[in-house]
Amino acid sequence: MRPGHSTDYLHILVVKVVRACNLRCKYCYYINDDTRDYGSSMSVETVTALYERYRDYLSAQGRQGAIVWHGGEPLMLGHARFARIMDLQQETGLAPFIHNRLQTNALLIDDAWIDFLRRYDIGIGVSIDTDQVSHDANRVTPKGEGTYAETVAALMRLRQAGIGTGVLSVAAGAADGRHAISSLRALGVSSADILLPMTNNARQKNADTAIDLEDLPDFLVDAFREWVRGDDPSMRIRLFSSMILQALGRRTTFLGTGGADMSSLAVVETDGSLCMDTEYSQLERFRISGGYSTGLNVNDDDFTFDRAETLIKAFVSDVGGDRLPSGCRNCQVAALCGGGHPGSRYDDADDSHDHPSAHCKALYKLGCETLSYLRDPQPYI
Ligand code: SF4
Repeated sequence: MRPGHSTDYLHILVVKVVRACNLRCKYCYYINDDTRDYGSSMSVETVTALYERYRDYLSAQGRQGAIVWHGGEPLMLGHARFARIMDLQQETGLAPFIHNRLQTNALLIDDAWIDFLRRYDIGIGVSIDTDQVSHDANRVTPKGEGTYAETVAALMRLRQAGIGTGVLSVAAGAADGRHAISSLRALGVSSADILLPMTNNARQKNADTAIDLEDLPDFLVDAFREWVRGDDPSMRIRLFSSMILQALGRRTTFLGTGGADMSSLAVVETDGSLCMDTEYSQLERFRISGGYSTGLNVNDDDFTFDRAETLIKAFVSDVGGDRLPSGCRNCQVAALCGGGHPGSRYDDADDSHDHPSAHCKALYKLGCETLSYLRDPQPYI
């Protein structure tokens, strides 16, 4: 396989294999009152078209890609249907070119799913919020019950079975940042993504759609202090390590601290339509603007991933995902923050992304704290 920078080509496909979930997380961008076609799932025909076209693209380039199975809750597809979809990777000749990951709330994990994950060598990410209070407040069943205890039990079960498991947490500003990190540490989490709640400047201006970001800056700074105080190199938090690396002049692939890597990723919806990163779904959900759908579908006769790559790269360039917004250029933490995720920069006042992120206040405070730590780590330890 040919080496190359990850931004050179479409190396990650996030596949929305089923549009259903056994939870009703309060911040969910996907399963909510606006969800169309709830319960639909990807057909074998669409999976086959996707595999054949991704195989052609990767084999022509001599490169590896990744499929991240997503939903909704992807395990709601059921053992037999998911196994059929995985077997198709061998049958279509895609298997040598990809590895698979799966993002799950883990509540359906049982011995059969553990066998499935082992058999198909699938890495797994478990969605678990930073601590029990925020998890139980947000990640609830349709009856409104919290799910922290069940999620932790599933995480332990996966770990005992030797399945490599990362964690994905949404930052809840109201939570205590120190407690959030110590809770993840107590669970033995070695790799976590802390994601900022999805939003953008247009959404934040409207009282009906704005989310409360007031406590987010303090949450992030407290979490960062606790993370460095632990001085535990085995615990990686991608938001924090990306800021540190970027401060040192290194490139990272984390979209929350800049958008250079956005052209390496596409979302494939259950009907086969090809879309931009999920942050852009917010613009369509709240009827603010377009941007999520590319207009391409893997089932179209003339669909190729080469064409998709060209279109996505043009979009990223159009929205300035490959550069800082003008308002960020003199910011002292611009190198660390990267202007935030391009989707969070959109403002309908001028229908453009050339604005500091809706998360600017939080990213600025975290960036300043990171610089302060790098100048003199001693007080932090
Ligand atoms: S902190 Fe704000 S102004 Fe500074 S780079 Fe980030 S988004 Fe731009």
